[in-house]
Amino acid sequence: MRITVFSRGPSLYSTRRLVEAAEQQDHSVDIVDHALCSPFLNGSKSALLHNGSALRIGQVAIPRIGANITHRGVSIIRQLNVLGIPHTLSADALLLARDKSCCLQRLTEAGIDVPRTVLCHSIFEARLIAKKLAPFPVVVKLLESTHGVGVALAHNMHQLQRLVEGFLQLQPSVLLQEYVRESEGKDIRALVVGDRIVAAMERTAAPGEFRANMHRGATATSVTLSAEDQRTVLRTAALIGVEVAGVDLISSKRGALVMEVNASPGLEGIETATGVDIAGAIIEYAVRKV
Ligand code: ADP
Repeated sequence: MRITVFSRGPSLYSTRRLVEAAEQQDHSVDIVDHALCSPFLNGSKSALLHNGSALRIGQVAIPRIGANITHRGVSIIRQLNVLGIPHTLSADALLLARDKSCCLQRLTEAGIDVPRTVLCHSIFEARLIAKKLAPFPVVVKLLESTHGVGVALAHNMHQLQRLVEGFLQLQPSVLLQEYVRESEGKDIRALVVGDRIVAAMERTAAPGEFRANMHRGATATSVTLSAEDQRTVLRTAALIGVEVAGVDLISSKRGALVMEVNASPGLEGIETATGVDIAGAIIEYAVRKV
C-alpha cells in the first residue's frame, strides 16, 4: 500500500520511525511537507497542490501537524476529506485538542476531571481569578503551547501579573490553573491508537523544573495504568476524537486529572521508555482504514 505521511521534517524521529515501520510491513511511504501544500477546489478535479502541482496522495494519509501550523494542517486534512482519502487525524479533533481551554471544557462537560482552570482575558481579570486558585503558586498557560514552552509558575501576584501581561501580548487569552502540587513534577503520557492504549510512560521533570516535558529534560519510565486510568484515557481520546493521541494525566489528591490531549504525539520518548513499536501500531491502524 502507498501511505502519505504529512510531516514538516523527514529527519524527525517520529517521521523516520513511521517510514521504517511502514517498510517493515511492506508498504511504501511518501513524506510530504504540508507547509508547501495548498487545497485546490475545482469540483471533481479538486486536488491538493504541492509546490503548485497536483500531489499524488497515497491510499491513506497520516497527518503529523506541528503546533505552529495547525490551521494550515486543518485545511490540508479537510482537503483529504474532499478527495475521499482516509486519514488518521480528524480536522475538528485537531482543532479541539490544540485549544487547551475548549478541550478541557469538552472533558468537563463529559464528567472527566481536569485541573481547576480559568480562562482570562485581562490582567484585571487574572488578579481576581488568581485569588480563587490560590494559594500560590498558580500555573499560567498559553492556550496553544507545546513542549511546555507556554507554561509557567507564578509564585506571587507580581509574577502572575508579569506573566499574564507577557502571554497576553502573544494570544488574546490565557489559562490560569491550580498548581497540582501532589504531582511532584511527574505526569503520565498514554499513547492511544484507535481504541487501544499501546503504551504509557511516567515522566519526571528535571531537577528544579515542574514541567515534565521530554523537551525540558524530563526522564521517563514505562508504567502500567490502573483500570480506572485506562478508562479515563480511552474516554478522553474518544471524546476529543483524536485517533492517535497522547493523553496526559497528572495525579492529584482527588485522583488522576486529564491535563491535555496531544494530536501529533512525539514517539521518541515513549518508544525509548517502553520499547513498544508504536510506529508499527500506527501504520497497522492507518492501513486498516483503507
Ligand atoms: P504543553 O502542552 O506545552 O506540554 P502542558 O499543559 O502539558 O503544556 O504542561 C507541561 C507540563 O507542565 C506538564 O506535563 C506537567 O508536568 C506540568 N504541569 C502543567 N500543568 C500543571 C499543573 N496545573 N500542575 C502541576 N504541573 C503542571
